[in-house]
Amino acid sequence: MPRTHIIGAGVAGLATAVSLAREGRAVTLYEASGQAGGRCRSYRDAKLGRAIDNGNHLLLSGNAAAMRYLDDIGAGDALIGPASARFPFLDLRTGRRWCLRPNAGRLPWWTLHADRRVPGTSGWDYLSALRFAVAGADRTVTDCVGDGGALFERFWEPLAVAALNTPARAGAARLLWPVLRDTFARGEAACRPRIVRNGLSETFVNPALNFLHRRGAAVRFGHRLRRIAYVGGAASRLRFGAETVVLRGGDSVVLALPPLVTAGLVPGLSVPEQSHAIVNVHFRLPEPAGLAADLPLLGLIGGTAQWLFARGDVVSITVSAADSLATEPADVIARKAWADVAAALGFGRDAVPVCRVIKERHATFAQTPEGARRRHGTRTKFANLYLAGDWIDTGLPATIESAVRSAHMVAHAVAGDGRIGAGE
Ligand SMILES: Cc1cc2nc3c(=O)[nH]c(=O)nc-3n(C[C@H](O)[C@H](O)[C@H](O)COP(=O)(O)OP(=O)(O)OC[C@H]3O[C@@H](n4cnc5c(N)ncnc54)[C@H](O)[C@@H]3O)c2cc1C
Repeated sequence: MPRTHIIGAGVAGLATAVSLAREGRAVTLYEASGQAGGRCRSYRDAKLGRAIDNGNHLLLSGNAAAMRYLDDIGAGDALIGPASARFPFLDLRTGRRWCLRPNAGRLPWWTLHADRRVPGTSGWDYLSALRFAVAGADRTVTDCVGDGGALFERFWEPLAVAALNTPARAGAARLLWPVLRDTFARGEAACRPRIVRNGLSETFVNPALNFLHRRGAAVRFGHRLRRIAYVGGAASRLRFGAETVVLRGGDSVVLALPPLVTAGLVPGLSVPEQSHAIVNVHFRLPEPAGLAADLPLLGLIGGTAQWLFARGDVVSITVSAADSLATEPADVIARKAWADVAAALGFGRDAVPVCRVIKERHATFAQTPEGARRRHGTRTKFANLYLAGDWIDTGLPATIESAVRSAHMVAHAVAGDGRIGAGE
């Protein structure tokens, strides 16, 4: 039986392998490191004495592809979140707290209610969202909504930075539109926040590996793809260090790798070249933080931290588009982050608890108009070589949803369902 060789066991590679194995296809998954998950993984941190995630991940109930993937691997109940959408916020400068509460149904009447919308805004302000629907490919978020006022500071900027990992002034408006269209515009049922109950690996990774094991798929760790040999317009050999895999007729290869690694393996490919960092800081507290059990998260405005998450006695903060912060020493970052946590949760700011700072310097590609233009489609000019990953032209920001969507696109393409997706 022809075999599909999938390179990279991040979410995109895992979801590709799951989709193909589900259809009864022969699959081998290769991963350079000793564990799967890529940018979405958990590990036991010796300093904290706890299992932590490399970074907090927030999904929305409207992330249909991600939800389907979790159902497919038997992890449909691994996310937690409130029964109806709400997003609690705190302005660290003023101490003011509020909670965004979108309503059910497509008519967004929540914007007309002062106790549901962003304080300091009027219902009219929200009409600016419609500009994203018609934004040209070269428009940024601030081209659509400006860069001032309460709605920008408390909604557009946090949303753009969280979804695009790019400052609003540079972020591609075209990539924010699908987020609005698929979640907020569909009513609260599509924009309920969802986070992992136990850990990223327990949710997105280990159940997928178990699924693949049950289906007889081979998974090979410690296999870094170094080179691909091409003959007659197709990939013919995969070189992993000392080991070479010779492709047989009908075999296919899916590269589910970061963009620059992909470009190094496929001649003539243009990919997004710039990336932005995300910084997470995990603090171990003497006791669990007192956030709501169904929604242990808080949006923060006006400080260093942008989001605060709690799991048991570990409180973590996330800073996206954090290139400048990521250049600072870990102890400086920890002190800044703790000042925000202390203000939010009512602790003293001087005694910084034991913590771990994680800098993901290439967390996602820079989701600017230029970066978006350089995304590639599923197919390549080589007949049996396909691409997957969050940076593929799914039309979505580079998120779990995009990684899984790219996997579904590539699985369809490999299965011979024709050319799906954009690009070459
Ligand atoms: C800190 C952080 C926070 C995030 N927050 C969110 C969030 O809140 N919500 C959300 O939806 N998304 C979030 N994301 C983005 C999300 O994690 C990514 O979109 C997703 O994990 C990308 O998966 P991928 O499979 O495309 O790529 P990767 O995870 O990068 O997978 C690529 C894999 O390929 C392997 N590899 C590399 N080179 C080779 C080689 N030569 N041979 C073999 N294997 C190789 C790597 O080791 C890796 O396992 C966040 C990302 C980070 C880093």
